[in-house]
Amino acid sequence: MKLANRLHNLGTENAFEVLNEVHRLQASGHNIISFAIGEPDFDTPENIKQAGIQAIKENYTHYSPSAGILPLREAIANHIAGTRNISVSPDEVVVTPGGKPIIYYVLHALVNPGDEVIYPNPGFPIYESVIRFVGGVPVPAPILEDKDFSLDTEQLQQLITPKTKLIILNSPHNPTGGMLTATDLKNIAQLACRHDLWVLSDEIYSRIIYDGTFASISSLPGMQKRTIVLDGFSKTYAMTGWRLGYGVMNKKLATHIARLVTNCESCTNTFVQYGGIEALTGPQESVTDMVNEFKARRDLIVAGLNSIPGFSCKTPNGAFYAFPNVTEACELLGLSGSKALQQYLLYNANVAVLPRSAFGAKNTGETQEYLRFSYATSRDNIVKGLEHIERAIRTGR
Ligand code: PLP
Repeated sequence: MKLANRLHNLGTENAFEVLNEVHRLQASGHNIISFAIGEPDFDTPENIKQAGIQAIKENYTHYSPSAGILPLREAIANHIAGTRNISVSPDEVVVTPGGKPIIYYVLHALVNPGDEVIYPNPGFPIYESVIRFVGGVPVPAPILEDKDFSLDTEQLQQLITPKTKLIILNSPHNPTGGMLTATDLKNIAQLACRHDLWVLSDEIYSRIIYDGTFASISSLPGMQKRTIVLDGFSKTYAMTGWRLGYGVMNKKLATHIARLVTNCESCTNTFVQYGGIEALTGPQESVTDMVNEFKARRDLIVAGLNSIPGFSCKTPNGAFYAFPNVTEACELLGLSGSKALQQYLLYNANVAVLPRSAFGAKNTGETQEYLRFSYATSRDNIVKGLEHIERAIRTGR
């Protein structure tokens, strides 16, 4: 029996393959230290848990509007207005089970077969997967170490053609932790306005910043109507398993995206949405504490990585990822690239990380090798994991 052709265009997140292998090794008695997973290791704050429990007790256990319950959309509209310095109405907000569906829905809503979509590479692998799935043409925009893992806006300009429909941005960036500067955003905004392009701005790490301040392209002149801001609760409030995120966009597009939600899942889990209201309107100390702890871990991991032979790591400004250049380490060990090094570390150092290749194919002319370390794990694990790596590299060369 044949499957539909379009399935051949759907990619995945390779991180899940590494995670499956980690679970298999752990089940067979290996003590693996994992830097592979991109989720906070903290518990969801107690006040948010209680709000979810209370909502179940009060029987908020039925269907709710596809775009999300009004008090949550109001809280989101206020939050986005306050943090992006724009005015937002609840009609411009669509709540979804995690921020990820916004990528899927927005690409379905905006991209016709043959339309070109520019996206960051390396980048969150779902962008390229869904661009291909909707019949769009993925156009990778290199994110380079030389440019502090920001976008080269001059190069970006060269990528725009009459077929370009949408640019995807992600700042702070997964997997590098890089951030777009105010000048980058200004340049990109000018390009988007000049060429009449949509921008999907994935701002899921907007609250996890250590140096500098967050800026959204939606705040710039002419941009709000053409920007979809993606944000959510998974990373900021350690709520990955609750599945709660949202998109903020012009009202007309929001109506269409809500219709996609109606067709797909009817609505986001109703009592989970009450947890979201508490997250945004309740005390924010847990966010500050978590970000402070991430900052201490960042400093620890960057210093540690830089002391391993063949590793060199820039200090990331945001998110909870370090992206060391491991080209020399691959050479020292006679390995062909980051994927081979990732496997070497998994089986010889009992340490799980993700290779550059989990975030898209190399850009033309890209010669360097990288690994992604998520430091959403304890300082103890960071120290031990780096010791294991150092030992495995020294014995292997
Ligand atoms: N965007 C980026 C860049 C991410 O790294 C992730 C999660 O890893 C998401 C979006 C989706 O997060 P969620 O669907 O859990 O809100």
